[in-house]
Amino acid sequence: MEASLGIQMDEPMAFSPQRDRSQAEGSLKKNEQNFKLAGVKKDIEKLYEAVPQLGNVFKIKDKIGEGTFSSVYLATAQLQVGPEEKIALKHLIPTSHPVRIAAELQCLTVAGGQDNVMGVKYCFRKNDHVVIAMPYLEHESFLDILNSLSFQEVREYMFNLFKALKRIHQFGIVHRDVKPSNFLYNRRLKKYALVDFGLAQGTHDTKIELLKFVQSEAQQERCSQNKSHIITGNKIPLSGPVPKELDQQSTTKASVKRPYTNAQIQIKQGKDGKLMKQSKTVDVLSRKLATKKKAISAKVMNSGVMRKTASSCPTSLTCDCYATDKVCSICLSRRQQVAPRAGTPGFRAPEVLTKCPNQTTAIDMWSAGVIFLSLLSGRYPFYKASDDLTALAQIMTIRGSRETIQAAKTFGKSILCSKEVPAQDLRKLCERLRGMDSNTPKLTSDIQGPASHQPTVSEKTDHKASRLIQTPPGQYSGNSFKKGDSNSCGCCFDEYTTNLEGWNEVPDEAYDLLDKLLDLNPASRITAEEALLHPFFKDMSL
Ligand code: ADP
Ligand code: MG
Repeated sequence: MEASLGIQMDEPMAFSPQRDRSQAEGSLKKNEQNFKLAGVKKDIEKLYEAVPQLGNVFKIKDKIGEGTFSSVYLATAQLQVGPEEKIALKHLIPTSHPVRIAAELQCLTVAGGQDNVMGVKYCFRKNDHVVIAMPYLEHESFLDILNSLSFQEVREYMFNLFKALKRIHQFGIVHRDVKPSNFLYNRRLKKYALVDFGLAQGTHDTKIELLKFVQSEAQQERCSQNKSHIITGNKIPLSGPVPKELDQQSTTKASVKRPYTNAQIQIKQGKDGKLMKQSKTVDVLSRKLATKKKAISAKVMNSGVMRKTASSCPTSLTCDCYATDKVCSICLSRRQQVAPRAGTPGFRAPEVLTKCPNQTTAIDMWSAGVIFLSLLSGRYPFYKASDDLTALAQIMTIRGSRETIQAAKTFGKSILCSKEVPAQDLRKLCERLRGMDSNTPKLTSDIQGPASHQPTVSEKTDHKASRLIQTPPGQYSGNSFKKGDSNSCGCCFDEYTTNLEGWNEVPDEAYDLLDKLLDLNPASRITAEEALLHPFFKDMSL
């Protein structure tokens, strides 16, 4: 029946505009593919030329990832007697700082190779080209599998993520870019690997020697930036390289600053001259990021706690806009506060978004919480913001504005918010977004989660899953390729069948753990070690 239907469908339909269109689309796709293939081939040739010794060992097959700071290739090699091995070759952009490259490598060699942290096999260098060779882990595209994971798989995923985070945090490594494309997951083999230490920083007692230099380098850079950033009016000259505006899934290195192009952004330096105060006003509604009815504007500044410590700033200037939603000309002329902001906006913790200078491993736990939120709600990306204050306003819509303001005070930041938004019940939110809420027969646009208002998230019925919302595939703009590309396990899971097992009775422990991960206060946020012992994982062993 199906076959005959197929034949009928395949009958040529003369002058059918639809057929013409689909034919045109088909050939366009083919052209695009050929173009892409030719580009990849060229890149592979260039890599062989740049690092010729690679050719003695590897056959480079494909490009499997391309980020702002590196390209990753799949290669095969006959390293030992036996079958060919698959290897991932990470070619770092030649403009990367040598200390940065060495620190990334040291994280992999010292902390990697166990507990779900990617290890390293070799490293090659020719002039300024560095290639890190790692064991290849075939992995899924998070978006492709998000809505087909069983609840047990979600538990295992989070457990294994915490295992990796515990390991790196024990070494005093703050990853700073925890997100699905940096946590490789092979569903069939139940294998996991935390990758990409390109943005990592060390804690004060880090065991990774080179991270100490990365840190001090960042601090030095901050100093030099502070010296060179003389702000006149709204214009902020940038001393560093100015990259293209980066999207949700892209990352920004600590040393790379995004240009402040939005006219609404205003930079302030502190009241009484003692604080370096940065303040921006964000109209969340105008950015289509808040609820339809509510507009929130937020402004962040250092509070008195910070003022006491930031004593290096000039003390002569005073202003009268402190704790108001205006920015006076004195504040406009103040220097910008610089703190580590590397990472991906939607995964950044509140203390990162508010430029708190004292950041710890807790920032990775927040990011893990955002991943967990995606897994429980079936929405990815959950937060999608192009700038920090929009991201902060989005967090407020879930965790509450009063709670966010309160927490920020504990790390020396004062946030002004034009409207009060209540914290949401995490279970209700996730169930509504998943379409599992029995009180909500159809998911409507009244959900106050930011993702439900994202233009990239559509609402459609997934009959198989009986879920009402799905993020359409292909809208993910991350740096890992999608299903069907050579690095994903698309071949193993061509038809992702949704496993509803366990989803109808998500235990309270899940939301308790989520709540503890998305703790707005980094000092009380759950650690990876504690998370592994959380009752949510009661029958799982390390
Ligand atoms: P970047 O700094 O450019 O983000 P990553 O180290 O995150 O570089 O790698 C980019 C992508 O390459 C990853 O998201 C993943 O898809 C793929 N990748 C990286 N390392 C491996 C590996 N060891 N095995 C398989 N794929 C990998
Ligand atoms: Mg990455």
